[in-house]
Amino acid sequence: MKEDSYTSLICANFCNYYKPGKDREKCGGYFYIKQFITPAELGDLIEVFKLKSYEASYRNCSFVCEKCDFRVDGCDFFVNKSPNPCGGYLLINRIFHYTNF
Ligand code: SF4
Repeated sequence: MKEDSYTSLICANFCNYYKPGKDREKCGGYFYIKQFITPAELGDLIEVFKLKSYEASYRNCSFVCEKCDFRVDGCDFFVNKSPNPCGGYLLINRIFHYTNF
């Protein structure tokens, strides 16, 4: 189940595929962020690094997709290599980029 504090930061801000009210499933990015970062820390990271909802390129973070509830129904980014990942994937990608992980 999602939590509003994370959903507003991750899904509403960063995900092109987000549909309010669908709170049972979460992407792999949401899973990992919720495990390791508090909503306050995430908000600070977004503000300090000026993280945006769109980036032209992405590093491979396929481990994120391994924990994703949406893979069951297929994900265009994961299956067909479409250009736009979900917001959780995008956010983890940008955090890694700015922290040189
Ligand atoms: S890019 Fe697709 S498979 Fe990967 S975490 Fe996001 S929704 Fe899930």
